[in-house]
Amino acid sequence: MTLTTHATLGAVLAKAAGNPLMAFVFGFISHFLVDMIPHGDTGLSDNFRVHKRRRKQAVAYVAVDAIIAIFFVLMLANTRDIISVRNFTWGIIGGVLPDLLVGLYDLTKSPLLKWFFKMHFFFHDYFVKRKGEVPLYYALMAQVVLIAYLQTKL
Ligand SMILES: [Zn+2]
Repeated sequence: MTLTTHATLGAVLAKAAGNPLMAFVFGFISHFLVDMIPHGDTGLSDNFRVHKRRRKQAVAYVAVDAIIAIFFVLMLANTRDIISVRNFTWGIIGGVLPDLLVGLYDLTKSPLLKWFFKMHFFFHDYFVKRKGEVPLYYALMAQVVLIAYLQTKL
């Protein structure tokens, strides 16, 4: 899923969490669960990691995604009465941290992160491998709808 989806879901779940630690845990676990839903980025990911072609496209996708997520989170923080900014913050951190660790593995190939990278893509690819991928455009539109719904819960 996009970082904006992970961040928004983390923020919403944080509201239900009683404390920052649980907010983080809810956000972190939610990342793997929503990533299981096919969301159109397998072509980008495979080009980047497997075929090693059109890699700038994947980098640009992630950069745009990350900056939109920052804008959106800041917009939420500036337009809502967040009951606990601490829970909000840790929910978002938990929601996006798995993709940071995946990116760090891509950059470093550190053996410390390899197991995490594999676990992330075990979940990420679970249904894509069995049922097939969906077009990225539709997946992005579906995420816009999901985010529009989730932000009403903040
Ligand atoms: Zn992910």
